[in-house]
Amino acid sequence: MTVHIQSLSPGNCPALVLNADFRPLSYYPLSIWCWQDAIKAVFLDRVNILSEYDTLVRSPSFEMRLPSVVSLKSYVKPTRFPAFTRFNVFLRDRFTCQYCGEREDLTFDHVIPRSKGGVTSWENVVAACSACNLRKADMLPSVARMWPSTEPYQPTVHDLHQNGRAFPPNYLHESWMDYLYWDSELEE
Ligand SMILES: [Zn+2]
Repeated sequence: MTVHIQSLSPGNCPALVLNADFRPLSYYPLSIWCWQDAIKAVFLDRVNILSEYDTLVRSPSFEMRLPSVVSLKSYVKPTRFPAFTRFNVFLRDRFTCQYCGEREDLTFDHVIPRSKGGVTSWENVVAACSACNLRKADMLPSVARMWPSTEPYQPTVHDLHQNGRAFPPNYLHESWMDYLYWDSELEE
């Protein structure tokens, strides 16, 4: 009889969710379900289990290993554009201040200040260090004489994917690696 050592608690066992074509359902943010959602989808017959943790969950009526990778049974059309989130703005700008190149103490800057009618959008928000953010204050770039090193733009998933390998998520289970970063490796 095999005794399974539960080295990870279920709370630390998220499942990577792949589309029916075995690519992640989403890269940014990476499509991850908590173990409860993953198990629910298994019982609803919506996913196939491709890989498992050693961690078992038990109830009086069943026992199973927690899925570490699942794939949807029906294909979902992926979105071309990543969500406009703080993380994705940092990722587009490679976690670098767009004014001075600093990598520490990052925040966000509206290129056209909100007080001058600037909106919060991909095209007007850049990563900036606190010092530059403070220095630019409420000024237009031409007044502050500060311009972002790259004009802010709406990135595609592909754009973020190019930058993503250098800044992986905090948690990557080894079983996920087969499904991540493959296409960017092919392009090198
Ligand atoms: Zn700076």
